[in-house]
Amino acid sequence: MTDPRRLLARLNPTAVRYDVGRGGMPDLTAQDIAAALAFVPAGLGREVFCALWWPDGARLSRRDLLGKVTSIVGEEWRRQAQALAEARIDLGIAHAIAGWGHHTSPEQRRNIDAAARALEARKRRCWPSTLPDRLPALVTAALEEIAMPNLCAQCGGRAQAIVGALLVKCSMCDGRGTLPVSDRKRARAIGVDESTYRETWRDCYGWIYRTVADAEQEAAQGMVSALRG
Ligand SMILES: [Zn+2]
Repeated sequence: MTDPRRLLARLNPTAVRYDVGRGGMPDLTAQDIAAALAFVPAGLGREVFCALWWPDGARLSRRDLLGKVTSIVGEEWRRQAQALAEARIDLGIAHAIAGWGHHTSPEQRRNIDAAARALEARKRRCWPSTLPDRLPALVTAALEEIAMPNLCAQCGGRAQAIVGALLVKCSMCDGRGTLPVSDRKRARAIGVDESTYRETWRDCYGWIYRTVADAEQEAAQGMVSALRG
């Protein structure tokens, strides 16, 4: 299978001969590779894909890339803040309805309790207010984790294993080729202790990592499709 990341890395100046097939890689010239890249839609995925594997080909600097991720994170953060504000209003309305009469009915009490529970759940899902200070470290850690994934020890990242005479999905990584990075390692990467990471940053980091990794994966797949086309 063609690894688009290794192909793209051939465009780096340190790659001595990129027009020579090696290790089962197809014989592709730099022009072929650049032409395939041109079919990958512009956007976050393409920028991350280039920033990690062919820095000279990235249109955005690392700083601009951080800015792009920041605006995507900002959209999600704003959505959370709006959902929280709506949950507060729902609770306020439930109280107001209950306050119209002289006594609160069981149904009104249930509505108040449900709205209060929904508000608490919303609060727990909101990212911390200190996010702007931590964001560069979170994004940098996510990019590094994508660039240096925790390869599965059983299949070495190939996602498949040979059982008998059959090529099957690797059972250890469930066909992903990589294993999740530990909380301890992620905490160290973003500069907090492990319990703070678990309590405060795990959801937020997970969201940023998935968003950036999915975009990069989509760009890599786009390049594979262009090379096949
Ligand atoms: Zn595996």
